[in-house]
Order: sequence, then C-alpha cells, then structure tokens
Amino acid sequence: MMTTAARLSKSRFVTGCQCHKLLWWTVHEPNALELQPDKVLQDLFDQGRQVGEAARARYPGGVLIDLPHDARAARVAATQKALDAGAPAIFEATFIADDTYVAIDVLEQLNDGYRLTEVKSSTSQKPEHIPDVAIQARVAAACGVKVRAAAVLHLNKEFRHPASGDLFARTDVTAPVVALLPSVPDEIDRQREMLAGPLPDVPVGLHCFEPRKCPFMGRCWPDAPDHIRHLAGVGPKKTAAYLTRGITSIAELPAREKLNFTQRRQLKAMADQRLIVEPTLARELARFTSPLSASAERRTGGEDSRRKRGTGGEVLGFLDFETIARAIPVWPGMAPWQQAAAQFSYHERQPDGSYTHAAFLAEGPNDARPPLAAAMVRATAHAGRVVMYTPFEKTRIRELQRAVPRLATELAALEAKLIDLHPVVKNCVYHPDFKGSFSLKAILTPLVPELTYNDLVIVDGRVASVEIARLLFVADKIPRQERDRVRQELLDYCQRDTWAMVKLVERLQQLSERP
Ligand code: SF4
Repeated sequence: MMTTAARLSKSRFVTGCQCHKLLWWTVHEPNALELQPDKVLQDLFDQGRQVGEAARARYPGGVLIDLPHDARAARVAATQKALDAGAPAIFEATFIADDTYVAIDVLEQLNDGYRLTEVKSSTSQKPEHIPDVAIQARVAAACGVKVRAAAVLHLNKEFRHPASGDLFARTDVTAPVVALLPSVPDEIDRQREMLAGPLPDVPVGLHCFEPRKCPFMGRCWPDAPDHIRHLAGVGPKKTAAYLTRGITSIAELPAREKLNFTQRRQLKAMADQRLIVEPTLARELARFTSPLSASAERRTGGEDSRRKRGTGGEVLGFLDFETIARAIPVWPGMAPWQQAAAQFSYHERQPDGSYTHAAFLAEGPNDARPPLAAAMVRATAHAGRVVMYTPFEKTRIRELQRAVPRLATELAALEAKLIDLHPVVKNCVYHPDFKGSFSLKAILTPLVPELTYNDLVIVDGRVASVEIARLLFVADKIPRQERDRVRQELLDYCQRDTWAMVKLVERLQQLSERP
C-alpha cells in the first residue's frame, strides 16, 4: 500500500469525482483486468482522438505540445515557451500545480487572458464536463495563467456529412466552472489523502452507473440473481432509489409495493422457480405463425397475395441489422454518432417449412446504404411479414428511406411488413433466468437452451459495430487474413441473431400449444 500521496491528473480527478473507491483501484491497481480497455472502449478513445485533431483545425497558428505525456517537465517547459512566444492557441497546454497534472485541449489567447476549451466527442455539454474543466482551470490559474473563460467544444448534432453546418458547437461553461472552483482544492486534498490510505469504503449507488458505468461493478455489486437491480424495467435511477430505501433484493420488496404486471409475473416466476406462460401467448403469437390474414393480403397487394395463396401459406422473414456509429460522420446526410445499417441477416421460412438465408456486409469506405437497401429489398420481396426483435430494425429502415430515396417506396412497403416479437415475450413469458431483462441474449438461453452464442467470437452488437467500422475505414491497416476472419465472424454473428429469432418463434409456438 502507498504511504505517500499519489500525484493526481485531470482524468484521475474526474474519476475521483465519480467515486473515491474507483479512483483508489485505478491508481493502485493500474493493471487490473477491469481497467484494460476492450475493443469498444479503445474505439471510443480513438474516435475521441480524431475529434480532438479535427477541432485543432479551428485554431489557425495553434501550437501543439507534441511530447509524450510522461515527459511532464519537458511538456510544461514547451508550454511556457509557447505562452512566452504569444501563440494564439496552444493544444495540450500542460501545467502542474497542487501535485496535479493537466493537459488542456485548447488554451486560446484572448485580449485580456486565455480561454480554456475542453474538446468532447459527445453531441452536447454534460454536467460531468464541469469538474473536468474546473480542475484544468484551477491548475492553470495556480501556474499564473489568467483564465478568463472556459468552454466545452462538442460535436454539433445539427451537422450533416459532408459539410452541412459546423461539425462543432461551443458551450460556454465559465459560470458553472467559476461556481465549482472554490471546492476544487478541498476535493484535491480529499482525493490525495484517500489515496495515501487503505481502500475506502464507498457504498454502491447511482454513481456506479453515472457519468460512466464503473468497470469495477463486478467487485462491488453482489451477483445475486434476486438483486433489486434485476427487477424488470428497473434502471440505474430506480435501483439507486430502492437501495436508498434499504431494499437490496427483490425478496425484500414490501407486499404492497406498486409493481406493474411484468414485475408481478417475474416475482411469481422467481417464487415458484418456474417458467410462466400467459394464456394470451397463443393470441399474441398468431401473427407470427398463422397464414396471411385477409387484411394483410389487402395490404401487400393482389399479385403477390395470389402467389402466396397458391403456395398454401405465408412467407415469413426474420431480419436483423448491425450498424456503424462514428463520431465524425462518414456517409452523406449523416449526423455525428448517427447509426447507419451496414450489415443485415435475413432468414425466410418458405411455405414448405424450410428456411433460406440472405446476408449483406458492407465492403470498403463508400456509403453502404444503397447496396444494402437494394439487397434487402430483393431478399424480402416475397415475405408477407418480417419478424424483428425491438423496433431497432424499423428505425433503421425509416432512416434508409431517407438515405436511399430511389428505394423509398420499396422500403416503406418492407416497413409495413415488420412485426415485433419483443412485446410478445415481454407480455406473455417469464423465466427466472431472464434476470429482469427481455433482450434477445437474455431470453435465448432460458427459452432455447440448445442455441447459444458460445461458439462465436463476436457475441455483442457493440463489438460488431466497432469491427465493421474497422473493416470499412482502416482496412489497409489490417492484414488480409485477419480481414477475412473478422468478416466471417461478423457474418456468423448476425446470422445467429436471425436464427435465434426463428428458434424463438418455434419455441414460443410450442409453449402456446401446451395445455
Ligand atoms: S462499483 Fe460503484 S462503489 Fe464500486 S468502485 Fe465502482 S463506482 Fe465505486
């Protein structure tokens, strides 16, 4: 254990503002498994770096303190040199005071001092940016810099690729930073004192989720399946409210607690330790299993309907998308962080009960939406209804109607065929192993134990999104063999998602037929 006070930095201070225990582990166990960035976090860092670099173009004549972060003394000296030379802006301007190290994204000269600007890749200024800027203002001021204004330069949600509007928007945060400044030295002292002692005892609460989900939740939160955070529909805020009331497990909920229907069903399933299936399942599932209804036939039009009637049953499709989301948008009309479909998997049940499969995965940096939309319209042309899980696919198809106007009519027709399986499960079925979640991954193993994602490399939509973006935009940096392998892993993952829906419908049908 350390006995001398640890040196702070901007990021450590901000971490400490979230939770002292999190800061203690971050400082004393820097190699902890939980702190090693996964692909998704690494991608977030990379995108943040890209946004920072793009922001610098706004400050002509700016000087970058381009030295390694561990060369602190050299960085401080280079910053002083740039200040003395009257640089109009200094990027990564570095200062040390109160044994605290900060590197300011942009220190911009004003008539009577400097404006300190923190660049963020978010699309708005958030409350957690204030301590972030305040620690920088405090340290710079302690080093003699006249900080007159403070701002957060974030991405502008109104911007559209390639050049509609300004990519950045600036929010002045001088007033909230000035209001917070008097408390900063005390918080620095508290953090340094805490770091010199043993692991602090901090109870769990909302701070474990906000502003960032803590990587150490596995250490602090009990893994019990009946923990109150596993009550259906309960997010961080409600969980924290229950904890404040002293309710840590579902069993501790008072008998007169106001709960919704889904939660009551969950409590019953947990008490009986069994799967509960509502008698309404057969009715709710009818659209997913029965032949095309007369009204649906009218909707889909004469020729196709006659063809389907001729085959004696409806063609049912199962659709799933994977998307990319980039801080700096990449395709026409896209806003910062907007999701765009880049991959789909589609299973189709033929009237004879067999299944066909179609897939699309973007290749190269060009806009993937037109070829994706064309392939999807072709693949789904004969489906009467298309199953999705949650409205995610519907939202993407609506976006595609705007992005690919020449296929807007066909895409609107596809949108009209979509039917959502998620509410059927949520309204009618509960297994204790759902642990309060109705996500496809959460319900699949309890309901269809023979089908898992265990044999796949990619098992998470966020990882899939990052991997697709890597294949599309930095392919030249990836060896050919790795590119082929990742491509196959993505295809396997998306295909498993639609096959999971196929199996889920079959299983739900069996359950609905049970006496
Ligand atoms: S899980 Fe919560 S209490 Fe534990 S270190 Fe993280 S933020 Fe702190």
